[in-house]
Amino acid sequence: MKYDLLIRGGAVVDPAGGLRGLMDVGIAAGKIVEVAPGLPEAEARKVISAKDRLVTPGLVDVHAHIFVNSSDMGEHTDRLCNAGGVTTVCDAGSAGSANFAGLRFVVDSAVRTRARAFVNLSAIGIAGAARSGELAHFPYADPEGCAQTIAENRDFAIGVKLRYGPGIVWEYTTEPVKVARRAADMAGVPMMVHITGTPLPLPDILAHMKPGDIVTHCFHAGDHGIMGPEKQLVLKEVVEAQRHGIIFDCAHGRGGHFNFPLIEKALDQGFLPDTISTDLTFGTATRGPVFDLTTTMSKLMHFGVTLDDVVARATATPAKIAGLEGVVGTLRPGADADVAVIELRDGNFEFRDTDGNVVAGRRRLITQTTLKNGRVIYERPAE
Ligand SMILES: [Zn+2]
Repeated sequence: MKYDLLIRGGAVVDPAGGLRGLMDVGIAAGKIVEVAPGLPEAEARKVISAKDRLVTPGLVDVHAHIFVNSSDMGEHTDRLCNAGGVTTVCDAGSAGSANFAGLRFVVDSAVRTRARAFVNLSAIGIAGAARSGELAHFPYADPEGCAQTIAENRDFAIGVKLRYGPGIVWEYTTEPVKVARRAADMAGVPMMVHITGTPLPLPDILAHMKPGDIVTHCFHAGDHGIMGPEKQLVLKEVVEAQRHGIIFDCAHGRGGHFNFPLIEKALDQGFLPDTISTDLTFGTATRGPVFDLTTTMSKLMHFGVTLDDVVARATATPAKIAGLEGVVGTLRPGADADVAVIELRDGNFEFRDTDGNVVAGRRRLITQTTLKNGRVIYERPAE
């Protein structure tokens, strides 16, 4: 037997891996071994039909939250991520130097989805941030502790997280950005900066960012986003920054992070996010408006982003940020056999943003089966 598992007859969509078309995916010992039409079924221990389905790399969600308030998705992470085709999830700074060991314990003991994490510049992370922002009190800023935490968790920690927003940081200057920059440089990792409603113009923040750094919540329509105050045109500094390799991540979330009218305008001007992510928490996964990564991808497709573009931005690009380029986020032979089998369903779907806007979608990506390391970890219940 050549294959432990054969995924038969699906439409393979792995644009970054150069794989596109009706093909079978052969899996052995937890790895992708062959992707081609007409692989021999007789050589497979088990066959899964993907007829009329898309077959993509297991999705990579570069911005979600396993550990907000030291619990949140926690033990529910697998259920909520895998149902959206996600096999790799990055926690975006739920924990900082003081509570990162707790996040690591939860991930190691209760989460089977492949996980990585950004370490918050604030020692306490997002725990209790709703009462007072995690960096409103200056002593919580811990660049040395953040860098040390990353150094001690090289297999897990991938960057520094700064939430730069009103009421979150101790002063509305570039100082918090510079302190985060220092932590990232000490650890030799990128930083991710949350920019929703930031009190500083975005170009002032971008001036301290380097290629590989990530701007997250790039589609918010609050103060100082990717557009000027009139919210009509994408700023030339933003276009420049993206061209120079700064990554713009859409992180859907709630509370003003993801605005349909702004998305429509940005896409019309040719500005696409580099990565598509959910900012998923227990609440946004169960009550919406996010639900899961395939739903966020469907919303961008509604506004004209192609299937190939949404798949690349939810697989290969975030996999690179997670330090897993070539390991996940691709179906090329040799990669870990993380795969999503997805239906592109026609129908009537109500899509909501975070600002009360609703659109009538006509197509939606719906995850049918999710595999990690060649094993089925999610199957959509029969309807
Ligand atoms: Zn977040």
